[in-house]
Amino acid sequence: MDKYEVLKQYFGYDTFREGQETLIDAVLEGRDVFGIMPTGSGKSLCFQIPALMMKGITLVISPLISLMKDQVAALNQAGIHAAYLNSSLTVNQYYKALEFAKNGRYPIIYVAPERLASESFLDFALHAEISMVAVDEAHCVSQWGQDFRPNYLKIVDFIQKLPRRPVVSAFTATATKEVREDIVDILMLQDPVVVTTGYDRPNLFLSVQTPKNKYEALRNFAETHPGQCGIVYCLTRKLVEEVCERLQADGFSVTRYHAGLSDQERRQNQDDFIYDKCQIMVATNAFGMGIDKSNVRYVIHYNMPKSIEAFYQEIGRCSRDGEPGECILFYSGQDVVTNQWFIDNNQDNRELDDFTRKIVVERDHERLKKMTYYCFTNECLRDYILRYFGEYTSNYCGNCINCITQFENVDVTDIARKLLGCVLTGRQRYGAAVIIDTVHGANTAKIRQYRQDENPFYGSLAKEPVYRLRQVMNHLQLQNYLTVTSDGYSIVKLGERAAEVLEQGGTVIMKMAKEKEPAVKVKTKKKAAGGTAAGMLSGEADEALFERLRMLRMEIAREEKVPPYIVFSDKTLVHMCSVKPENKSQMLGVSGVGEFKFGKYGARFLECIRVFQEEQGNRKESE
Ligand code: ADP
Ligand code: MG
Ligand code: ZN
Repeated sequence: MDKYEVLKQYFGYDTFREGQETLIDAVLEGRDVFGIMPTGSGKSLCFQIPALMMKGITLVISPLISLMKDQVAALNQAGIHAAYLNSSLTVNQYYKALEFAKNGRYPIIYVAPERLASESFLDFALHAEISMVAVDEAHCVSQWGQDFRPNYLKIVDFIQKLPRRPVVSAFTATATKEVREDIVDILMLQDPVVVTTGYDRPNLFLSVQTPKNKYEALRNFAETHPGQCGIVYCLTRKLVEEVCERLQADGFSVTRYHAGLSDQERRQNQDDFIYDKCQIMVATNAFGMGIDKSNVRYVIHYNMPKSIEAFYQEIGRCSRDGEPGECILFYSGQDVVTNQWFIDNNQDNRELDDFTRKIVVERDHERLKKMTYYCFTNECLRDYILRYFGEYTSNYCGNCINCITQFENVDVTDIARKLLGCVLTGRQRYGAAVIIDTVHGANTAKIRQYRQDENPFYGSLAKEPVYRLRQVMNHLQLQNYLTVTSDGYSIVKLGERAAEVLEQGGTVIMKMAKEKEPAVKVKTKKKAAGGTAAGMLSGEADEALFERLRMLRMEIAREEKVPPYIVFSDKTLVHMCSVKPENKSQMLGVSGVGEFKFGKYGARFLECIRVFQEEQGNRKESE
């Protein structure tokens, strides 16, 4: 079989996605490869397809048990013999799997990195024909990354012990330069073919909101998105508990996840979400690594996360199947304070020496600042993120809140001049809140204590609403008229461009939203009516069919004890609804239906569609 046949036969797809072919071809030529592709772009196929075409065994190194389980289940569902070797197996199961492996049963074996050094595994590996070692989530080798796993450092030792060096392939979604260089160096990739595909996830709608009442906003969103799965990220365990409880009380299907729960409960809750038994997952950032669930339709950040890296990784779990998804961040000033506290009290830094710790803390404050600017900017949000990762695109994506909001240019020179003046006369010693209170003329103990009531600008902007002052303040930071120190105190100081306004009579123009409630509202409503399939279905009949296919999928998933999306993805079901196949060849034309899956479930889905069509016909006649 050639690679196109493998793609169609086992995975049911007709075409490769960007980057996949290049990487597959290179591996087949015996080259090392390095794929840097965003979450959901299809990295797995880049090693799975060559694994099925090469003689010998491909070992896949993966950091998490849940990831391995999921991928092996998906392969088994596609009719491919694959196994995993990790600590979730009993001793008996482990030796049995090794025995099968020795007999050449598995072209693909997933291995936890710590197994690589174990005697029994080495004994197997040294006598088997290992054609490739594929390192998934390769950023785990780097201490620069967020998910450093010391066991990943064992990979190279292992490879060097093998009698013949296999092809080594590495894959990650993390694109920062340091991490990238680390991966090539530490894994000792030999002249690898490197593929970096765009970091963009065009199907994700990005938005920032500053709701007065976050919970109301969340409930509202969930209500207008019935039947959809979503993740709600909170900064603290306490908040996870609170939000989860309130959603429960309001009748939503919801579960929770954070590091304070027992292992067993965490596993249970995660499974409930993955197996579609609960629709909403409320969690801290402890949740998500290794979640391959493809039909998460929204990710809501109840709080602003600590960095763009973390944020992008978290929203990366939205709509992995390429259907439209929504990513909303609820910003409040308190989020900055909470994150600063986390940075200054980070227990992970305890073992570092003073000097290194200082650098790490500074770097984290800097990252937080960039994250905060994301919440302030009136420019394209997608462009902001992509630039952060070093990718330059146009400043208009058409699928983020700023691109669809109508703005007008407002002259804010007067406000700017007074804010800058206040910072200067306060001798650059205060944070943003004190500056704003001062110009607004607040009569508080703090202001009196700092004697800011004697500042010449005290009360000079008493007529402006506080939110407006904050907006302008943010804009001044964003445009380098002001800077904020990254030492954890967030002192506001004059920036590089302050003199333009204070001395050179420059004007400050700012983009401000025209209406308070922009076009999203309409969009949300339309989507809600479109129901579960993310508005991709045309008409009520298709929606009813989709529901029916979804029930069938659920039934099969229960029988097979796998998550529903491993049977067929939402995207495949949507496609089925539009094709309405009547026979095998039409069914094989549906994206995501391969020979093997057709053999297993094809008849049941065809029957389901046939019955549905018949009922529809009857209904039409009786009308
Ligand atoms: P990654 O590891 O890059 O995050 P995955 O390998 O988990 O992404 O793939 C994400 C989804 O994309 C899966 O549901 C997968 O089946 C699907 N996919 C991968 N390649 C293709 C393709 N060529 N055509 C259609 N869907 C694909
Ligand atoms: Mg992956
Ligand atoms: Zn945009």
